[in-house]
Amino acid sequence: MNFRLWLNFSLFSLLIVFLVTFISYFIIGGVFTSQIQSRLETTGKDVIEVISRYQPAGAPLIDDYIKQAEEREDAIILLITKRGEAILPFESSLENGDEVVKFIESKLTFVDDNTAVIFNGNDSLNYVAQVDYGEKCYLLIRYELTLINSTTRTLRNYLFIISSVVLVIAFIISYSVAQKLSTPIKSMSATAEKMAKGNYEVNFVATDYQEVAQLADTLNYAKDEIKKSEIFQKELLANVSHDLKTPLTMIKAYASMIKEISGDNPEKREQHLNVIIDEADRLTGLVNDVLNVSKISSNIDTINKKVFNLTEFLYGVISKFDYLRETQGYSFMVDIDTDLYTFADEEKIGQVIYNLVSNAVNYTGEDKTVYISLKNDPINDRIKFSVKDTGVGISKENLHAIWERYYRVKEEHARPVKGSGLGLYIVKNILNKHSFEFGADSEKGKGSIFWINFPTVSPNIET
Ligand code: ADP
Repeated sequence: MNFRLWLNFSLFSLLIVFLVTFISYFIIGGVFTSQIQSRLETTGKDVIEVISRYQPAGAPLIDDYIKQAEEREDAIILLITKRGEAILPFESSLENGDEVVKFIESKLTFVDDNTAVIFNGNDSLNYVAQVDYGEKCYLLIRYELTLINSTTRTLRNYLFIISSVVLVIAFIISYSVAQKLSTPIKSMSATAEKMAKGNYEVNFVATDYQEVAQLADTLNYAKDEIKKSEIFQKELLANVSHDLKTPLTMIKAYASMIKEISGDNPEKREQHLNVIIDEADRLTGLVNDVLNVSKISSNIDTINKKVFNLTEFLYGVISKFDYLRETQGYSFMVDIDTDLYTFADEEKIGQVIYNLVSNAVNYTGEDKTVYISLKNDPINDRIKFSVKDTGVGISKENLHAIWERYYRVKEEHARPVKGSGLGLYIVKNILNKHSFEFGADSEKGKGSIFWINFPTVSPNIET
């Protein structure tokens, strides 16, 4: 990457320097020449006009004008007859007049009488045109380019030196930029390799470049998540094996007791069998929770929504807790509106309500009372469900955390409660998948309320 970046940057600088040099090279000479050309044209036109206006009587005037123009333009101006004599300015003379005339005529061969021609000579730029001055004459204006040509050459030489220096500097800068860009990426990939080998204590270092810094942040975030998930897995294994061990020990102990002690005593046997059934139920619950969580984690848990009677469905779920009312003195105070319909995954909502009511049962106060309500809220087009208990409640700091995986508030409750810390995590995921509003309100010592807003639908709605 380092080399390729450097190569690309360098090629880019080379292209730019080359273009700039190339363009400047031609501009430097071209600008001077085109300026002189237009000055030659103007001077030529002016001289021709003066000649045609004042000739031949005003020869001194014309002579004066030409001399002034020569001085102003730093050029040589001659009016030459076809025989090769210079007739203006007065004192001028011309060597090789014949040859000059031939040369001028060769330049004017293909143009008509009134057209002037500008052409390059040896280190000079020349203007020629035909003029009537009693006879047919030629006007020659010659501009020496020796100085300009040598200046242009010097400028071009400087241009080459400057371009070469710029190019070398560009190569060096390219190298350092390439180095600066690739070094953090190289270090990140080395860090990622360490992480792949199981070291999550590594840190991806951010740099000055925003994108690279963002990449470092994302990788750090990914690393933290992987680390968390690793910790979760370890905790899951530890929690689950611990939670599985307790009921299994109980089941084994009570089965042995039935075998050895209570087998013939129907009352005791019944009592011991009930403990075994309870513990087996707890085991089933735990295994189901773990299965649900793994389904959520692997995202294979899909939601199958349909319209159903939430009122009747709720009564059905509550009836599963009848045994607690009958055998353990729990009371369920219900306030449920009739025939409320909603659109959701019935089975999953069953799980949600069951988990919330179980928690209320587990964590309610000495009065062993749980309040369940399902009320229609037609103004907001929703059904408000809530489960309330009278237990110790949940402190503000814990109110957010209870929805996390394996989170269990480390506090004394009215009864020793055995849980996995997975129930509310499952509830949260199911409700999020439905996009239903839900939450928990609680105050220390005043119990808790867990609530959900279901959408209201008509029983006959097409889905
Ligand atoms: P658990 O199996 O431990 O009940 P949950 O995910 O259902 O797992 O609950 C997480 C934690 O939230 C519980 O351990 C408990 O500390 C707290 N919690 C849940 N429901 C209540 C409640 N109704 N009253 C007080 N605390 C609760």
